Amino acid sequence: MNRRNWLALSAGALFGPKPPLAAQQAPSSANTQAPQDSGLSVEQYQPKSMLHTPETHVPRARFPVIDFHTHITGTTGGGGIRFRMDPANCLAVMDRKNIRTMVNLTGGNGDGLREAIAKLQTAHPGRFMVFTEPAWSHASDAGYPKYQADQVEDAHRAGAKGLKVLKTLGLFLREKGAGKLIAIDDRRFDPMWEAVGALKMPVAIHTSDPEAFFLPIDRFNERWEELHAHPSWSFHGKDFPSNRQLQEARRNVMRRHPRTQFVCLHVADSEDLAYVSECLDSHPNMHVDIAARIGELGRQPRAARKFFDKYQDRIVFGTDASADASTPQQTFGDALYEIYYRFLETEDEYFDYAPAPVPPQGRWRIYGIGLSEQVQRKVYGANAARLIGLTA
Ligand SMILES: [Zn+2]
Repeated sequence: MNRRNWLALSAGALFGPKPPLAAQQAPSSANTQAPQDSGLSVEQYQPKSMLHTPETHVPRARFPVIDFHTHITGTTGGGGIRFRMDPANCLAVMDRKNIRTMVNLTGGNGDGLREAIAKLQTAHPGRFMVFTEPAWSHASDAGYPKYQADQVEDAHRAGAKGLKVLKTLGLFLREKGAGKLIAIDDRRFDPMWEAVGALKMPVAIHTSDPEAFFLPIDRFNERWEELHAHPSWSFHGKDFPSNRQLQEARRNVMRRHPRTQFVCLHVADSEDLAYVSECLDSHPNMHVDIAARIGELGRQPRAARKFFDKYQDRIVFGTDASADASTPQQTFGDALYEIYYRFLETEDEYFDYAPAPVPPQGRWRIYGIGLSEQVQRKVYGANAARLIGLTA
C-alpha cells in the first residue's frame, strides 16, 4: 500500500462512516489486515533500512591511530581517580584495531593523576598518554590563579601530557556562595592557560553541547529521545548562556593565549561547520577532534568532506570512548572503532553511527566521506602526534 492510500484509510477510519476510496477499489484478494503494532510508541520504533547499498567492513584503520579522546579513568572528587576500563582489555582492542595510543583525558590531578600515569603511561610506554584536569573546587579561593598555574606545572613534572577542560567550565562551575556561573574567559584562568602554553601541553576543551540541548524538550526537538534518556544534559532556560555565547567566550581565550594550543572537542560546534571554519580561520592555535560527533559530520557528508580537506592539519581522531553502555555512540570496543573507520575511509551510504538498535543521538543515519590517504594519515595520527610530542 502506498503512502497516499494509507493516509486515505486513516482519514476514513477517523472521520467518516463512508468507506475510504482505497478500500472501495481494493480487489477482494487485497490484504486488509490492520498494520501490526498500531499502538507503537516512538521509543519502540526500530525501522530497518531497505536500501541495498554496499557495506564495507573496515576492521583496522589504514594508518596507526591515536585516539585523542578517551576516558579510561574518571575522577572521584577530592583528586582521586577510578579506573573505568582495564588497561589490558584496552591493549587487546588497540592491537586488533590498529590503535597506537589512547589519550586518557580525565586523569584528574594530585595523587590520582600520579596513579593514572603510573598504571597507564609508565607501565605501557607510547600506548597511553594521560592529561591532567584543573582543581575546580578551589576556583573561588583567594590565590587560585597562581595555585592553578602551579598545579599544572606540578602535573607536567609528574608526566601529564596536556590539560583537559570538561564542559564543567561554562555550564556547571559556579562561584562559591553567590552560585553564579563562572565564565570560560574569566581572567582567573589566564595564568593556567599561559602555563600550559609555555609547557607545550595542549588543552583539550569541551565547550557547550548540541544546539538541541539548549531548546525545550518538545516535539520539535531532534534529540527528544536522547534528552529523555539523559534529562540532565538539557541546558534549556535557567541562567545558562547560549551555545554561541559559550563558543565566543572560548574564542576570547584562544585569542588571548596565542602560544597555547587548543583542541576544541566534538568538532567545537559540529552542527555549524561554517562557524567552526570561521573560528579555525581566525585562530591558528585552534584544532578540533571528532569524538562522538560522526553522527553530525556523517549527516552532512559533502560539507564534512570539504571541511576535512581544508583543515586536514588541524583535525584529530577521537571517540570519547568510555565504559558506559548507556551512551552507545561512545562505548569502548571493536564495534565503535569500525564505525569511525567506515565513516572516514569509505563512501558507504546510510549506515548507523553507533552500535545500537536505535540511533542514540537522533533518528538519522550517516554517509562515509572517503577521505584521501593523505588526509587519513594526518587525521588518524600525525596531527595528534605533533600536538602531544610523539614522533609520527
Ligand atoms: Zn569526553
